[in-house]
Amino acid sequence: MKINCQRCSSSNVFEIPDFSIDDKKKLLELNQVSALLVVKEIIKLYSVTHRDAKFIASHMNLKYKSCHRCHKTIDNNENSTCSNCNSLNLNWNVNS
Ligand SMILES: [Zn+2]
Ligand SMILES: [Zn+2]
Repeated sequence: MKINCQRCSSSNVFEIPDFSIDDKKKLLELNQVSALLVVKEIIKLYSVTHRDAKFIASHMNLKYKSCHRCHKTIDNNENSTCSNCNSLNLNWNVNS
């Protein structure tokens, strides 16, 4: 799906692949180690562009329903925009 982050830019649109739940788990774990590894892994798994992979890696919130940028509580939708800082959160629920 195509998506953008209101905080970064309202006009830059990025392509987000349909991640499997196992890949979401793997990427969230990798993100605790290094965002660069996440970028490489996304490109390997889904052959997206480096630009898209970087966008995804920088908008994953490590803690479900907690904004990756300001840590305020966000709603439970996937691809949720934080009402406090306007950042997009991919907000993957990997525990359901
Ligand atoms: Zn952003
Ligand atoms: Zn926020």
